[in-house]
Amino acid sequence: MPIQSLNIQCQHCHSKEHFKIGHDDDQDSIEKAIDQLHGKTQIQVRSIIKKHTIDHAEYGFALFVCPECQILYNPFSVKIEYDSIMLFQPFHKCARCNTTLIKATEAVENYACKQCGEKQLRSC
Ligand SMILES: [Zn+2]
Ligand SMILES: [Zn+2]
Repeated sequence: MPIQSLNIQCQHCHSKEHFKIGHDDDQDSIEKAIDQLHGKTQIQVRSIIKKHTIDHAEYGFALFVCPECQILYNPFSVKIEYDSIMLFQPFHKCARCNTTLIKATEAVENYACKQCGEKQLRSC
């Protein structure tokens, strides 16, 4: 499936945000998607691919939310199961309060605007 786009506008302050979900069709394996990862995560994933047997890999842009600030983030997240029992899943942190982000499971309308903090986001 190609990357899905999500355009969000705040009804309160009118700021716009653009989110992406998933990964490109040509990134059909974790090896091909590795350039999307940054810093330490990319180094760790390269090392896992080289030295271990990958059982299952999930990766792609995803919507995450800070449980404290309620603001949305759009990191390229990765989860790799390897060697039958091992799990590699780096955490993402909120840039404002350093809380570990959780996966956003509700509709965007239920989360706060990054600019004004109001919960008046709408997809457009
Ligand atoms: Zn706003
Ligand atoms: Zn936060």
